[in-house]
Amino acid sequence: MPTEYSDNDIISTSFDDPGEDDSRLVDTGFIPGDDAGDNPLRPKTLDDYIGQTSVKENLKVYIEASKARQEPLDHVLLYGPPGLGKTTLAGIIAHEMGVGFRITSGPAIERPGDLAAILSALTPGDVLFIDECHRMSRAVEEILYPAMEDFAIDIITGKGQGAMSYHLPLPKFTLVGATTRAGRISAPLRDRFGVTLRLELYTPEDLALIIRRSAGILGAAIDHDGSLELASRSRGTPRIANRLIKRVRDFAQVAGEGVITEEIARHALDRLGIDELGLDKIDRMLLESIIRFYGGGPVGLETLAAATGEEAVTIEDVYEPYLMQIGFLTRTPRGRCVTRQAYLHLGLTPPPDAVGAQSNLFDL
Ligand code: ADP
Repeated sequence: MPTEYSDNDIISTSFDDPGEDDSRLVDTGFIPGDDAGDNPLRPKTLDDYIGQTSVKENLKVYIEASKARQEPLDHVLLYGPPGLGKTTLAGIIAHEMGVGFRITSGPAIERPGDLAAILSALTPGDVLFIDECHRMSRAVEEILYPAMEDFAIDIITGKGQGAMSYHLPLPKFTLVGATTRAGRISAPLRDRFGVTLRLELYTPEDLALIIRRSAGILGAAIDHDGSLELASRSRGTPRIANRLIKRVRDFAQVAGEGVITEEIARHALDRLGIDELGLDKIDRMLLESIIRFYGGGPVGLETLAAATGEEAVTIEDVYEPYLMQIGFLTRTPRGRCVTRQAYLHLGLTPPPDAVGAQSNLFDL
């Protein structure tokens, strides 16, 4: 009953997230070594998985019910910005169901035959996790439809008169798909998921709990205020929080007495160029570009991408969710606008017609 997953379970991985950039500490993208299959920081059970309460409570019910029926769980679609725990949750589903866990990603499945090989190697009940499932080609997706619906695939070999069609039954399995935005998934694929769950950015309180848990596992000493200080600068994202603990721990060792206190955390994060709300120089550059070149907006995504040299998809998936969550950026039908709060945070005077924040995670 393989409930722990290791690198051997990773069928193929392609972590070419456009947001990936080793030099950016608050990057939400995958960085090698951060999330290897045996990452000790990954919670293994639903009880260890902090926050996302409604997602967890719903999943608990679905898992319990399918276990009682001795059936695999319905296919699950997880969506939300990178680093919020989609892969972790997929592993937890396999663990809680007591079944095997196989990982791949949309861009890694190049041909329909690749997917057919993955599917036919599954054992009954397995959870197959497809990260970035919006990035599969149409031809690959078409193999997936009957596999999800009828647990079978139809393979055609040869061409013309010599073409042969084989109907290959598959073991029953659970597909867990992950994407940064549900809107990016084709309608036929989206319709085949029985359960769709949206992960939200974490509150500073939940992130502080994650930080204390991770610090305990890493053997790093941290006090209550130190964990809150780190949490408030982690952009609502556990992956960033875990990365910051490791860097700040170094400062605590060298500049302090080994304990991450509020003072040490503040000093270290200031030195790393991450401000009290978790913004780094790229966030500030984005906001300042909108202010300087477009009078605070509205500006279209593509124009902004061209002006800043960042990819549009990276701006949308990596930077914007948090800037919008803290009320620094709003999206209007005519484009992105910087809010009054963002001007004030950057030490600038907002123009009289500057828009106000639409949502706020923190008290600013
Ligand atoms: P995603 O697949 O959404 O990009 P991951 O599942 O890889 O994100 O999570 C990134 C890291 O954050 C993991 O290594 C894990 O340690 C940590 N993490 C994510 N969610 C939680 C959570 N709810 N509780 C504790 N740690 C978490």
